[in-house]
Amino acid sequence: MYGVKKLGEKMSERIFTELQPNLYFVHGKLSGRFPYCNGLMIDSEVKVLVDTGYGRSRIERIIEYGKVDVIINTHYHMDHVFGNRYFPHAQIWAHTLDAPALRSTEQFMAYTGLDESLGPDPSLFPGGPVSFEVDKELVNGEVLEFGSVSLQVIHAPGHTPGHIALFEPHSGVLFSGDVDLSPFGPWYGNLRSDLEMFIESILRLIDLNPKVLATSHSGIVTDNIPERLRDYLGKVELRDEQILHYLRFPQTIEELVNQKIIYHRFPEPQRLYRFFEEVMVRKHLQNLIKQGRVYELNQKFKAFD
Ligand SMILES: [Zn+2]
Repeated sequence: MYGVKKLGEKMSERIFTELQPNLYFVHGKLSGRFPYCNGLMIDSEVKVLVDTGYGRSRIERIIEYGKVDVIINTHYHMDHVFGNRYFPHAQIWAHTLDAPALRSTEQFMAYTGLDESLGPDPSLFPGGPVSFEVDKELVNGEVLEFGSVSLQVIHAPGHTPGHIALFEPHSGVLFSGDVDLSPFGPWYGNLRSDLEMFIESILRLIDLNPKVLATSHSGIVTDNIPERLRDYLGKVELRDEQILHYLRFPQTIEELVNQKIIYHRFPEPQRLYRFFEEVMVRKHLQNLIKQGRVYELNQKFKAFD
Protein backbone atom coordinates (compact mmCIF):
# COMPACT_ATOMS: atom_id res chain seq x y z
CA MET A 1 0.00 0.00 0.00
CA TYR A 2 1.10 3.55 -0.65
CA GLY A 3 -0.76 5.16 2.26
CA VAL A 4 0.31 8.76 2.76
CA LYS A 5 1.31 8.18 6.36
CA LYS A 6 3.51 5.27 5.44
CA LEU A 7 5.15 7.32 2.70
CA GLY A 8 5.87 10.04 5.27
CA GLU A 9 7.49 7.57 7.65
CA LYS A 10 9.95 6.51 4.99
CA MET A 11 11.01 10.01 4.00
CA SER A 12 14.64 9.69 5.13
CA GLU A 13 15.58 10.46 1.54
CA ARG A 14 13.05 12.48 -0.38
CA ILE A 15 11.47 10.31 -2.99
CA PHE A 16 7.86 11.50 -3.12
CA THR A 17 6.19 14.89 -3.32
CA GLU A 18 2.41 14.92 -3.15
CA LEU A 19 0.96 16.83 -6.12
CA GLN A 20 -2.68 16.14 -5.28
CA PRO A 21 -4.35 13.43 -3.19
CA ASN A 22 -3.11 10.04 -4.41
CA LEU A 23 -0.81 11.57 -7.03
CA TYR A 24 2.90 11.80 -6.21
CA PHE A 25 5.92 13.12 -8.01
CA VAL A 26 8.76 10.57 -7.79
CA HIS A 27 12.21 12.11 -7.44
CA GLY A 28 14.77 10.04 -9.35
CA LYS A 29 18.39 9.63 -8.30
CA LEU A 30 20.62 12.69 -9.00
CA SER A 31 17.44 14.82 -9.02
CA GLY A 32 16.39 12.86 -12.08
CA ARG A 33 19.36 13.87 -14.19
CA PHE A 34 20.36 11.48 -16.99
CA PRO A 35 20.81 8.48 -16.83
CA TYR A 36 17.95 8.68 -14.27
CA CYS A 37 14.54 10.32 -14.51
CA ASN A 38 11.70 11.59 -12.34
CA GLY A 39 8.17 10.28 -12.66
CA LEU A 40 4.75 9.95 -11.09
CA MET A 41 3.14 7.43 -8.81
CA ILE A 42 -0.61 7.04 -8.43
CA ASP A 43 -1.93 5.41 -5.29
CA SER A 44 -5.39 4.28 -6.35
CA GLU A 45 -6.96 0.85 -6.38
CA VAL A 46 -4.72 0.36 -9.39
CA LYS A 47 -1.12 1.29 -8.53
CA VAL A 48 0.56 3.18 -11.34
CA LEU A 49 4.07 4.42 -12.09
CA VAL A 50 4.86 6.86 -14.85
CA ASP A 51 8.38 5.89 -16.03
CA THR A 52 10.82 3.83 -13.97
CA GLY A 53 14.36 5.16 -14.40
CA TYR A 54 14.60 6.26 -10.75
CA GLY A 55 17.66 4.25 -9.79
CA ARG A 56 17.79 0.91 -8.04
CA SER A 57 17.55 2.08 -4.41
CA ARG A 58 14.42 4.12 -5.13
CA ILE A 59 12.84 1.27 -7.04
CA GLU A 60 13.44 -0.96 -4.01
CA ARG A 61 11.67 1.56 -1.80
CA ILE A 62 8.72 1.62 -4.20
CA ILE A 63 8.57 -2.18 -4.23
CA GLU A 64 8.42 -2.17 -0.41
CA TYR A 65 5.16 -0.20 -0.58
CA GLY A 66 3.35 -2.75 -2.66
CA LYS A 67 2.61 -4.20 -6.03
CA VAL A 68 2.66 -1.95 -9.10
CA ASP A 69 -0.10 -2.81 -11.58
CA VAL A 70 0.59 -0.44 -14.45
CA ILE A 71 3.67 1.34 -15.80
CA ILE A 72 3.07 4.17 -18.24
CA ASN A 73 6.21 4.99 -20.23
CA THR A 74 6.27 8.55 -21.59
CA HIS A 75 8.56 7.27 -24.36
CA TYR A 76 10.93 4.44 -25.16
CA HIS A 77 14.26 5.92 -23.99
CA MET A 78 16.36 3.80 -21.65
CA ASP A 79 16.57 6.40 -18.88
CA HIS A 80 12.74 6.19 -18.63
CA VAL A 81 12.15 2.47 -19.04
CA PHE A 82 15.23 0.91 -17.47
CA GLY A 83 13.44 0.06 -14.21
CA ASN A 84 10.48 -1.66 -15.95
CA ARG A 85 12.33 -4.95 -15.47
CA TYR A 86 11.89 -4.77 -11.70
CA PHE A 87 8.10 -4.98 -12.08
CA PRO A 88 7.63 -8.15 -14.11
CA HIS A 89 3.92 -8.39 -13.26
CA ALA A 90 3.01 -4.83 -14.19
CA GLN A 91 1.32 -4.00 -17.47
CA ILE A 92 3.25 -1.57 -19.67
CA TRP A 93 1.40 1.17 -21.48
CA ALA A 94 2.99 3.46 -24.07
CA HIS A 95 1.98 5.54 -27.07
CA THR A 96 1.30 3.54 -30.17
CA LEU A 97 4.16 5.21 -32.11
CA ASP A 98 6.81 4.34 -29.49
CA ALA A 99 5.51 0.84 -28.78
CA PRO A 100 7.61 -0.79 -31.55
CA ALA A 101 10.86 0.57 -30.04
CA LEU A 102 9.87 -0.83 -26.65
CA ARG A 103 8.92 -4.20 -28.03
CA SER A 104 12.04 -4.87 -30.10
CA THR A 105 15.69 -3.92 -29.75
CA GLU A 106 15.95 -3.97 -33.54
CA GLN A 107 13.30 -1.25 -33.70
CA PHE A 108 15.03 0.58 -30.83
CA MET A 109 18.19 0.72 -32.92
CA ALA A 110 16.23 1.84 -36.01
CA TYR A 111 14.45 4.61 -34.05
CA THR A 112 17.65 5.90 -32.48
CA GLY A 113 20.03 5.33 -35.38
CA LEU A 114 22.51 3.80 -32.94
CA ASP A 115 24.57 0.77 -33.91
CA GLU A 116 26.83 -1.60 -32.00
CA SER A 117 29.75 0.83 -31.94
CA LEU A 118 27.61 3.75 -30.74
CA GLY A 119 25.17 1.86 -28.52
CA PRO A 120 24.24 2.99 -25.02
CA ASP A 121 27.13 2.99 -22.58
CA PRO A 122 26.92 -0.37 -20.73
CA SER A 123 28.10 1.29 -17.54
CA LEU A 124 24.97 3.46 -17.65
CA PHE A 125 22.52 0.76 -18.75
CA PRO A 126 23.91 -2.68 -17.95
CA GLY A 127 22.88 -5.13 -20.62
CA GLY A 128 21.94 -2.36 -23.09
CA PRO A 129 18.48 -1.93 -24.59
CA VAL A 130 15.91 -4.46 -23.46
CA SER A 131 12.56 -5.19 -25.03
CA PHE A 132 9.27 -5.20 -23.12
CA GLU A 133 5.74 -6.30 -23.86
CA VAL A 134 3.48 -3.30 -24.42
CA ASP A 135 0.06 -4.27 -23.07
CA LYS A 136 -1.83 -1.15 -24.05
CA GLU A 137 -1.10 1.37 -26.79
CA LEU A 138 -2.09 4.92 -25.88
CA VAL A 139 -3.44 7.57 -28.24
CA ASN A 140 -3.77 11.33 -28.05
CA GLY A 141 -6.68 12.64 -26.00
CA GLU A 142 -7.39 9.39 -24.21
CA VAL A 143 -8.24 9.89 -20.52
CA LEU A 144 -6.91 7.29 -18.11
CA GLU A 145 -8.97 7.14 -14.91
CA PHE A 146 -7.35 5.94 -11.70
CA GLY A 147 -9.80 6.69 -8.87
CA SER A 148 -9.69 10.43 -8.18
CA VAL A 149 -6.77 10.92 -10.56
CA SER A 150 -7.38 11.37 -14.30
CA LEU A 151 -4.52 11.49 -16.74
CA GLN A 152 -5.17 12.84 -20.19
CA VAL A 153 -2.72 11.56 -22.79
CA ILE A 154 -1.18 14.48 -24.69
CA HIS A 155 0.77 13.27 -27.68
CA ALA A 156 3.82 15.54 -27.70
CA PRO A 157 6.08 14.12 -30.42
CA GLY A 158 9.46 15.39 -31.55
CA HIS A 159 11.79 14.06 -28.88
CA THR A 160 10.54 10.66 -30.02
CA PRO A 161 7.63 9.87 -32.37
CA GLY A 162 5.40 8.61 -29.55
CA HIS A 163 6.50 10.88 -26.70
CA ILE A 164 3.59 11.77 -24.43
CA ALA A 165 2.82 14.27 -21.70
CA LEU A 166 0.12 13.56 -19.11
CA PHE A 167 -2.33 16.21 -17.92
CA GLU A 168 -4.42 16.00 -14.76
CA PRO A 169 -7.34 18.34 -15.52
CA HIS A 170 -8.66 18.73 -11.92
CA SER A 171 -5.42 20.00 -10.41
CA GLY A 172 -3.80 21.35 -13.59
CA VAL A 173 -0.71 19.20 -13.09
CA LEU A 174 1.12 18.51 -16.34
CA PHE A 175 3.81 15.85 -16.45
CA SER A 176 5.76 16.94 -19.50
CA GLY A 177 8.28 14.09 -19.80
CA ASP A 178 11.34 15.13 -21.77
CA VAL A 179 9.95 18.54 -22.59
CA ASP A 180 12.01 18.92 -19.48
CA LEU A 181 13.14 22.56 -19.16
CA SER A 182 16.73 21.37 -18.80
CA PRO A 183 19.38 24.07 -19.31
CA PHE A 184 20.65 22.00 -22.25
CA GLY A 185 17.41 22.70 -24.12
CA PRO A 186 15.31 20.39 -26.32
CA TRP A 187 16.99 17.15 -27.36
CA TYR A 188 16.29 15.60 -30.78
CA GLY A 189 19.37 13.46 -31.35
CA ASN A 190 17.66 10.30 -32.60
CA LEU A 191 17.15 9.60 -36.30
CA ARG A 192 13.39 9.58 -35.68
CA SER A 193 13.34 12.70 -33.55
CA ASP A 194 11.59 15.59 -35.29
CA LEU A 195 12.55 19.19 -34.62
CA GLU A 196 9.45 20.79 -36.12
CA MET A 197 7.16 18.50 -34.15
CA PHE A 198 9.14 19.22 -30.98
CA ILE A 199 8.53 22.95 -31.45
CA GLU A 200 4.80 22.36 -32.01
CA SER A 201 4.62 20.12 -28.95
CA ILE A 202 6.15 22.78 -26.68
CA LEU A 203 3.61 25.31 -28.00
CA ARG A 204 0.76 22.86 -27.32
CA LEU A 205 1.94 22.37 -23.74
CA ILE A 206 2.07 26.16 -23.24
CA ASP A 207 -1.54 26.34 -24.50
CA LEU A 208 -2.66 23.85 -21.85
CA ASN A 209 -1.76 26.53 -19.28
CA PRO A 210 -0.77 24.06 -16.54
CA LYS A 211 -0.72 25.16 -12.90
CA VAL A 212 2.10 22.79 -12.06
CA LEU A 213 4.68 21.47 -14.48
CA ALA A 214 6.40 18.25 -13.44
CA THR A 215 9.31 17.22 -15.64
CA SER A 216 11.39 14.11 -16.16
CA HIS A 217 14.76 15.75 -15.55
CA SER A 218 14.21 19.18 -13.93
CA GLY A 219 11.80 18.58 -11.07
CA ILE A 220 8.61 20.51 -10.36
CA VAL A 221 7.95 24.03 -11.63
CA THR A 222 5.11 26.21 -10.34
CA ASP A 223 6.19 29.75 -11.32
CA ASN A 224 6.29 31.40 -14.73
CA ILE A 225 5.56 28.15 -16.53
CA PRO A 226 4.76 29.67 -19.97
CA GLU A 227 7.90 31.83 -19.83
CA ARG A 228 10.02 28.88 -18.75
CA LEU A 229 8.68 26.81 -21.65
CA ARG A 230 9.24 29.66 -24.09
CA ASP A 231 12.84 30.09 -22.87
CA TYR A 232 13.38 26.38 -23.36
CA LEU A 233 11.98 26.66 -26.88
CA GLY A 234 14.23 29.70 -27.44
CA LYS A 235 17.25 27.36 -27.33
CA VAL A 236 16.19 26.02 -30.72
CA GLU A 237 16.23 29.49 -32.24
CA LEU A 238 19.58 30.19 -30.61
CA ARG A 239 21.04 27.06 -32.20
CA ASP A 240 19.63 28.17 -35.59
CA GLU A 241 21.34 31.55 -35.19
CA GLN A 242 24.65 29.95 -34.24
CA ILE A 243 24.53 27.63 -37.22
CA LEU A 244 23.71 30.55 -39.53
CA HIS A 245 26.66 32.43 -38.06
CA TYR A 246 29.07 29.66 -39.08
CA LEU A 247 27.37 29.33 -42.46
CA ARG A 248 28.47 32.80 -43.54
CA PHE A 249 31.16 30.63 -45.14
CA PRO A 250 30.50 27.21 -46.75
CA GLN A 251 30.86 24.36 -44.24
CA THR A 252 30.69 20.60 -44.49
CA ILE A 253 28.57 18.77 -41.96
CA GLU A 254 31.79 17.58 -40.29
CA GLU A 255 33.09 21.11 -39.93
CA LEU A 256 29.81 22.15 -38.35
CA VAL A 257 29.87 19.20 -35.94
CA ASN A 258 33.40 20.20 -34.92
CA GLN A 259 32.01 23.55 -33.73
CA LYS A 260 30.07 21.71 -30.98
CA ILE A 261 27.24 24.22 -31.33
CA ILE A 262 24.79 22.06 -29.38
CA TYR A 263 26.91 20.02 -26.96
CA HIS A 264 29.78 22.53 -26.41
CA ARG A 265 31.89 19.52 -25.37
CA PHE A 266 31.62 15.84 -26.19
CA PRO A 267 31.82 13.62 -23.11
CA GLU A 268 32.98 10.00 -23.40
CA PRO A 269 32.18 8.04 -25.44
CA GLN A 270 32.84 10.94 -27.81
CA ARG A 271 31.71 9.05 -30.92
CA LEU A 272 28.24 8.78 -29.43
CA TYR A 273 27.97 12.48 -28.64
CA ARG A 274 29.39 13.47 -32.02
CA PHE A 275 26.66 11.32 -33.53
CA PHE A 276 23.94 13.10 -31.50
CA GLU A 277 25.42 16.48 -32.43
CA GLU A 278 25.41 15.57 -36.12
CA VAL A 279 21.83 14.27 -36.03
CA MET A 280 20.63 17.44 -34.32
CA VAL A 281 22.61 19.80 -36.58
CA ARG A 282 21.20 18.01 -39.64
CA LYS A 283 17.65 18.61 -38.36
CA HIS A 284 18.40 22.33 -38.08
CA LEU A 285 19.88 22.36 -41.59
CA GLN A 286 16.80 20.59 -42.95
CA ASN A 287 14.55 23.26 -41.43
CA LEU A 288 16.79 26.15 -42.49
CA ILE A 289 16.85 24.83 -46.07
CA LYS A 290 13.06 24.48 -46.00
CA GLN A 291 12.77 28.06 -44.74
CA GLY A 292 14.97 29.26 -47.62
CA ARG A 293 17.73 30.50 -45.29
CA VAL A 294 20.42 27.94 -46.20
CA TYR A 295 21.39 26.07 -49.36
CA GLU A 296 23.55 23.05 -50.05
CA LEU A 297 26.17 22.91 -52.77
CA ASN A 298 28.82 20.20 -53.29
CA GLN A 299 28.20 18.74 -49.83
CA LYS A 300 28.74 22.11 -48.21
CA PHE A 301 26.13 24.27 -46.55
CA LYS A 302 25.97 28.03 -46.85
CA ALA A 303 23.58 30.66 -45.54
CA PHE A 304 21.94 32.97 -48.06
CA ASP A 305 23.51 36.44 -47.82
ZN1 LIG B 1 14.13 10.85 -23.68
